[in-house]
Amino acid sequence: MNLTVKTTISWLEKFDEKIQVNKDLLTDLDQAIGDGDHGINMSRGLTEVMKTLESKSFQTIGDLIKGVAMTLIGKVGGASGPLYGSAFLKMGAKIGAKEQLSDEELLEALKEGEQAIIQRGKASVGEKTMVDVWSPLLEDFSQETHINWEDLKVAAHEKMTGTKDLHAKKGRAAYLGARSVGHIDPGAMSSYLLFESLAETMMEGENNNG
Ligand code: ADP
Ligand code: MG
Repeated sequence: MNLTVKTTISWLEKFDEKIQVNKDLLTDLDQAIGDGDHGINMSRGLTEVMKTLESKSFQTIGDLIKGVAMTLIGKVGGASGPLYGSAFLKMGAKIGAKEQLSDEELLEALKEGEQAIIQRGKASVGEKTMVDVWSPLLEDFSQETHINWEDLKVAAHEKMTGTKDLHAKKGRAAYLGARSVGHIDPGAMSSYLLFESLAETMMEGENNNG
């Protein structure tokens, strides 16, 4: 199924729902290895994203994603706001004026988002950040022309839980050093929710189309 303006909105609505439902979990994860604000940051940001989507109509996916980026940069705060914001900004720029995206084009856009996170945060794979979901996940699916969304969802879940065993080298959790081991990274969890929302939206679209 191609991503359209309408399904992009469904994706973001689902992400908002999951962030609100998991707000306390994200906060608890950040309490363990950071400063306990990740749930609050993301919840506030997504509430604002929903307001942006309600207040304006977007003709292209690129414009929509850029609008989301500006809201995230302005409203999320913390380390994660600029990181997610840059990711969406680069994705929006890559997508441009398109009204539909194939799986391949969507993967290319997500890859741009991943590169933006790495450029801004300078984290590598294995340093216990959201990069540990984005990078290996997009690498796993880089050769796919048609994504099996159930597989992607399962893979994203694996990458997220995999951050539990890692020793943090970037972000606030790095101050804990080895004591960060044994806890899932909060940004990896919110990134999982982003990919899970996308996968579920795409699967629902495929079912509706036959
Ligand atoms: P803050 O750390 O400023 O309190 P948040 O709690 O909202 O911000 O977000 C924390 C999450 O941000 C971490 O769990 C991690 O996934 C992500 N993060 C922090 N620093 C980096 C970085 N340099 N590169 C990639 N991700 C990072
Ligand atoms: Mg925090």
